[in-house]
Amino acid sequence: MAKKAKAKKKGKKPHKNKPTSKKYTKYKISGDKVTREKSCPRCGPGVFLMNNKGRLYCGKCHYTEYEGKK
Ligand SMILES: [Zn+2]
Repeated sequence: MAKKAKAKKKGKKPHKNKPTSKKYTKYKISGDKVTREKSCPRCGPGVFLMNNKGRLYCGKCHYTEYEGKK
């Protein structure tokens, strides 16, 4: 692999690949169905609840839901 001589700090910034929005990790495609993870009942679909140690938490409206232990 040929490397360029020392990168100068001038000019173009090195391109970094941004990670895909985490939103899309909440979608799972199985066959022809798209399943979503639990979304906020207050904010509606598109706003997902964060899972924290058995608790589901909405970062938008601070809605919290406890997952039943089963
Ligand atoms: Zn919410």
